[in-house]
Amino acid sequence: MDPHTEATLAPPVTAVPLPRHLLEPPQPPPGHHTSTAERGSFCLAVCSCGWTGPARRSRDLARKDAAGHATGPAAG
Ligand SMILES: [Zn+2]
Repeated sequence: MDPHTEATLAPPVTAVPLPRHLLEPPQPPPGHHTSTAERGSFCLAVCSCGWTGPARRSRDLARKDAAGHATGPAAG
């Protein structure tokens, strides 16, 4: 009698997909989300795209810079 050998089946390997946030680098949200930041006694406009406006004495001026950047290319 020949010895009966059984091949042991390996368990199926399930492919686990990686989370998307590990595959894609973090990117700023589309569009321009502006805000103002205070630097010392100055205030400047900042944007989510990395743009920063000139330092202003007035927060209102910085807001206008941010608005001008968010709506389109500012003259100058
Ligand atoms: Zn921007």
